[in-house]
Amino acid sequence: MHKSDCLNLKLQGSLFVQAVKLDCNAINRLHIHSKLQKIDIESVWNETSKSITTVSTNDEALVETPRPAKVESVERNSIAEELGFEPGDKLVRINNTKPRDLIDYKYLIAEEELNLEVLDKKGKLHKIHLEKDLDDDLGLVFSEALFDGLKQCNNNCSFCFIDQQPLGHRKTLYLKDDDYRMSFLYGSYLTLTNLMAKDWLRIETQRLSPLFVSVHSTDSKLRSKLLKNPRAGLIMEQINWFKKKNLQLHAQVVVCPGLNDDENLTKTLNDLFTFSKGKWPTILSTAIVPVGLTRFRPENDGLIPVDEECATKVIDQVEKLQTKFEELIGSRFAWLSDEWYLLAKKPLPPRILYESLPQEENGVGSIRSFLENIEKATANLPSEIPIDKTCSWVVGSLVVDALQPICKKINKIKRMSLTIIGLESPYWGKEKVVTGLLTGQDLIDGLSKKNLGEELYLPSIMLKHGESKFLDDITVEEVSKTLKTSIKVVFGPDDFVKKVLETTYHAIS
Ligand code: SF4
Repeated sequence: MHKSDCLNLKLQGSLFVQAVKLDCNAINRLHIHSKLQKIDIESVWNETSKSITTVSTNDEALVETPRPAKVESVERNSIAEELGFEPGDKLVRINNTKPRDLIDYKYLIAEEELNLEVLDKKGKLHKIHLEKDLDDDLGLVFSEALFDGLKQCNNNCSFCFIDQQPLGHRKTLYLKDDDYRMSFLYGSYLTLTNLMAKDWLRIETQRLSPLFVSVHSTDSKLRSKLLKNPRAGLIMEQINWFKKKNLQLHAQVVVCPGLNDDENLTKTLNDLFTFSKGKWPTILSTAIVPVGLTRFRPENDGLIPVDEECATKVIDQVEKLQTKFEELIGSRFAWLSDEWYLLAKKPLPPRILYESLPQEENGVGSIRSFLENIEKATANLPSEIPIDKTCSWVVGSLVVDALQPICKKINKIKRMSLTIIGLESPYWGKEKVVTGLLTGQDLIDGLSKKNLGEELYLPSIMLKHGESKFLDDITVEEVSKTLKTSIKVVFGPDDFVKKVLETTYHAIS
């Protein structure tokens, strides 16, 4: 933060900075409660466990007290820009409090007067006093969401995907995120087994809702067995706690054939459904997803992959329940992920049956949603493009058939030749795979002998959030060089159509 005029003023220690008036960035789902109310927490949390780990998300040492929040970028025309913030600066305290994460940060800046302590890139401390409107954002973007490290899980599920990876990659690939803050901020699923009293208190006082909870089974013994953790058996008490506090959840059930399917699954869905009623339901939706198994899992782990027969059975079972739920509350409440229908070789349900797509990010209705949106994006395609274009689009083997009609439609454009390629995943040892699981190595193995044309379109779902790396740590650039093809990452239907129609492209050197 070295806008020189600001810097000098900051050194005075208690500068009044007239904040720039901005359209406020809403604090979104945060509801500010300035006064703490008497907290009534029942015995739904767990005492401190040695197996609960709190680790950094950036490969540094263990972190328990918050580190200064590192600024990644500064929004243009923002208060932070006016103050002279620069990427690399570190925010240490806001009104004498160290923010633990983005949630704290949003709470702390929701004041009219702020005293900031900031370390610049040279390590020099600056103190800034500013006044602004209550809901003005500062316009700072941080490099991490958590400033005190990620809370990892204390479970030992045999179906854990993290444990089914090969060894030897960077540490962050093996972090087991079970952090309620990540669930609130980004919709990742958590099990609630590592929460301590202070965490429950924070969820209540900061109204961190909805959270996304992996339930798997409502049977206490069975859930403890699945998660290999006796603490997991408190799930029903914990859901009741959310109900009592008027906080909401989305739920998930990972179905492991022979363990939590059949009558166990019916019981779980019926139990969860009891929390779906009323004007302010506790459980907003439930996703049912098949267990994902890779070739790296240990032998004799007792897990059975979902096959066509199993998928067909689960679809029949859950669709009956959906009908019942819809009659009772006007919503199907529990939805099967797309993978079930693809594995069962059954048509996907129509888009309308997914209602508001509450679990789209979890692969529930995402193909129908994509098809619906791409239908709109391709409604006014040109009849021709000015020059010949040969290009390709890579997706997972499981979804290629569902997406073929789009390819056909685009190929009606004169001079356009788009090929869709559905890949298997030798990396994970899976013939049938969804797009999001394809790795860089899968692309290199599956595409190196194919004519990809001038450009290859790559759905962004294959990449780790905000990065250009695949799940196996290979980068897009590495794949592009190996395949000698220009790769364009596509972010959704509109972006895909826009990039396909572009005719100014550069072949990779
Ligand atoms: S809770 Fe999630 S991260 Fe933890 S062991 Fe189970 S599957 Fe893995």
